[in-house]
Amino acid sequence: MSEFSLIDRYCQNIGVSHQATSIDVGDDAAVIQIPSNKELAISVDTMVEGVHFFPNVSAENLAHKIAAVNLSDMAAMGAEPKWATLALSLPKINENWLAAFSMSLNRVLTHYGVQLIGGDTTQGSLTLTMQIMGLVDKGEALTREGAQLGDVLYVSGQLGDAALALAVLKGEIDQGEMDRQHLLSCLEKPIPQVALGLEIAGFASSCIDISDGLVADIQHIAKASDIAISLDVERLPLSTSYAHYLDVGGNLDLALSGGDDYQLAFTANPMHQTTLEKISSELGVELTDIGKIVAKHDDISSSGSDHLLQLSFNGKPYALDRDLGYQHFKGA
Ligand code: ADP
Ligand code: MG
Repeated sequence: MSEFSLIDRYCQNIGVSHQATSIDVGDDAAVIQIPSNKELAISVDTMVEGVHFFPNVSAENLAHKIAAVNLSDMAAMGAEPKWATLALSLPKINENWLAAFSMSLNRVLTHYGVQLIGGDTTQGSLTLTMQIMGLVDKGEALTREGAQLGDVLYVSGQLGDAALALAVLKGEIDQGEMDRQHLLSCLEKPIPQVALGLEIAGFASSCIDISDGLVADIQHIAKASDIAISLDVERLPLSTSYAHYLDVGGNLDLALSGGDDYQLAFTANPMHQTTLEKISSELGVELTDIGKIVAKHDDISSSGSDHLLQLSFNGKPYALDRDLGYQHFKGA
């Protein structure tokens, strides 16, 4: 099979077809129309076999994940995802793999209202790169800046399960009573919080998606917003699998700093609490108040990034296990 029939068969008509797409797959470039009251939010993510995923992950789950990690970036910006392009590097042409990949990609992109409008196909080690584009009202994109003193810090969903799954797969942690299916699905098929991002776009003061771990990512908010965050560790939303892990001597490190959760962390003025409760029940998405925005210490510039984030457990200072190599805490 040639590169061209591969594209015809597996890369055409994926996702939803938008009227605002003037030219899609098949020409030298795609052409899209942006309404005059909107701006385009653009993001790209790459997944490399052996770096971002194990060689045995199914084509179906890979398609889901490359879309989900990109959709999560749209969610974090409060943007409505619309278009995507896909650069595929494949070691060889395996039609079963391509058929499963293509079907899964179509399913997930259709679900989130995205059209695949182009890409590139090359031979090489298995690597997936997706670029995603979405629309946001002019000047209304949610950013990491803007968190204000007194704002509440919220997080969606539950934390740490993807990192827990990875540790179980690597044999670092015994699976014990944990729900393997649930953990695997958190790692390989994360659910991007697109609807939540759109709902909070109008009033959240800052937002980020948690791809590198809660502690690292909320510090980006603190830094960009020039404030500090006080995090109540005892309030972290955890799954029953994570609770089993705690029962057998696990700690909160994976929930605090494990990656790949793809939940949203955002800040909002406390006056929006009732609205958020409503959004949470309408979307069926857990939203937990896990901390608040506080003034940063005066000596912050001389004492490193530690003071951007103060952790406490039931009111007492809480120390992260620094032996785990948290680069963000270096220099403390
Ligand atoms: P060019 O030679 O101009 O780079 P290609 O032969 O790479 O064009 O691609 C032909 C058409 O197929 C283009 O419209 C391109 O966007 C599309 N395409 C190629 N690979 C993919 C892919 N993996 N997914 C979606 N569209 C693709
Ligand atoms: Mg090309």
